[in-house]
Amino acid sequence: MDKQTPLSDLVIVYHRQPYEEHVENGQVVYREHASPNGIVPTLKSFFGAVEHGAWVAWKQVESRSGDRKGKAEAREPFERVVNITDSYGSYSVSRLALTAQQVRSFYHVTSKEALWPILHSFPERYNYDAVDWPTFREVNRLFAEAAVAQAAPGAVIWIHDYNLWLTPHFVRRLRPDVKIAFFHHTPFPSSSIFSILPWRDEIMSSLLDCDLVGFHIPRYAAGFAAAARNLKGASVLEDGPAPASLSHHGLALSQASYPVKLGYLGRTVHVDACPVGTNVAHIRELAAREVTREREARIRAELKKGEDGERKLIVSVGRTDYTKGTRDMLLAYERLLERQPELVGQVQLLVTSVAAASGMGVYRNVQREIEQIAGRINARHSTLAYRPLWLSTTAIPFEELVAYYRCADVCWITPLRDGLNLVAKEYVAARQSVTGEGKPGGVLVLSEFTGAAVELDGALLANPYSHQQMDMAIDRALVMPEEEQQQRMASMQRSVERYDTTHWARHTLGKFKALQSPRAPEPQADVAVETPA
Ligand code: UDP
Repeated sequence: MDKQTPLSDLVIVYHRQPYEEHVENGQVVYREHASPNGIVPTLKSFFGAVEHGAWVAWKQVESRSGDRKGKAEAREPFERVVNITDSYGSYSVSRLALTAQQVRSFYHVTSKEALWPILHSFPERYNYDAVDWPTFREVNRLFAEAAVAQAAPGAVIWIHDYNLWLTPHFVRRLRPDVKIAFFHHTPFPSSSIFSILPWRDEIMSSLLDCDLVGFHIPRYAAGFAAAARNLKGASVLEDGPAPASLSHHGLALSQASYPVKLGYLGRTVHVDACPVGTNVAHIRELAAREVTREREARIRAELKKGEDGERKLIVSVGRTDYTKGTRDMLLAYERLLERQPELVGQVQLLVTSVAAASGMGVYRNVQREIEQIAGRINARHSTLAYRPLWLSTTAIPFEELVAYYRCADVCWITPLRDGLNLVAKEYVAARQSVTGEGKPGGVLVLSEFTGAAVELDGALLANPYSHQQMDMAIDRALVMPEEEQQQRMASMQRSVERYDTTHWARHTLGKFKALQSPRAPEPQADVAVETPA
């Protein structure tokens, strides 16, 4: 490590780097992401609360002598640790050199083909054959080594997501002094589905090496605790009620209480549930911009149908993934136009299905099917002046997305499984009155199987496994009276304001503080943090 680099009280371990790296006039420059929206800026906001923070990510290198098991040697040398000062604070970024082969094996194969389907309860998609577990373990060990090198005595090392499931095990052995926190951005399945993984014992042992294991919602926390008890004999030291705002009864993912403290080998593992927030202040600021108003006017002009007012706009935004249920949503749209032919020419659906950069076969097939159905719908119902469906397979920049959210009468988000779904929260946040134009309506049709469904009281919930329920939900959304829309939207807005990025950061920092001073009373989730707008 660079002698100038101070050790950090908070080390965030996340696979992606926290900035954009460009080469300008032969010089490497690091630029803050243009948009403060998304998980990376949310995590960086934590650096505002510590004197010096650190971030550990991978950087893919062209290998000179790296082999399957050994450390990658970059053909082009690069700085392993860079020190950054930007609007989020001052922090070091430690880049772990991984070869293309290591990235493919640990990330695209083991994580995406074996672990991801199990986390999302899709055992039929689970592919065991291609997994090289020793490489997965080795990459996790390298992340642990890089993390402990940055950590001050007693620091919190905060590890993110299932592709680093084994990192806590190595950190615990290298540095017994640090506190280890882990956050899952995905669902956590039932104990029986989790048990499909042949490495379940090793994974669960590693997670029980943590001091704090966090999830979006109580159901996932309960799933983890059940697996820890069943597979490892962990004991429940304390049960806690789910927060009232996250424990409505009768939903697919309702969970009234869950174990908040587990005991294992004489240690206490805290279990937590708090949904990641969206940056409401930033979205409001974007919504109020003149350029957004101009974009909205252009979108509305495209929705015009002669003298006859505007078509209704439905938006459905997401990544290409079988978990996102885009295929089933498109089939429901196809049924809608067949069932209610009078809607042809009156509604328009914008779908973004952003293809994964990896070019993985499984996602290519999902993409192909989406394009086929979209093509069929357009072929059947288009005229020279009307196309019922716009499909974008590249990402729409967030600033533009906000204008679409503001024009959309309906946001249709029906994944088969989704850890949280930020798009649903962003739609709600964007539908604010910015020019005193009155209370905004808009309908959020939301799958019961998203974490956000537990939080957003006011969404029109749909079960994507049922044609009938999907049909009823979209029918109802398209005719919902304005007053009901406004009431539901107001209720959801209270929720996204409550569970915004700042809340998540305060809550989590409160938990870290409690870990670092175990004798101190539980903090009231009140540690100051600033999120740049
Ligand atoms: N997004 C975007 N442009 C697009 C599609 C998605 O900026 O065309 C952003 C979207 O605003 C959201 C994120 O990508 O912030 C997707 O997050 P979400 O939690 O909904 O799904 P994930 O991809 O993390 O499963």
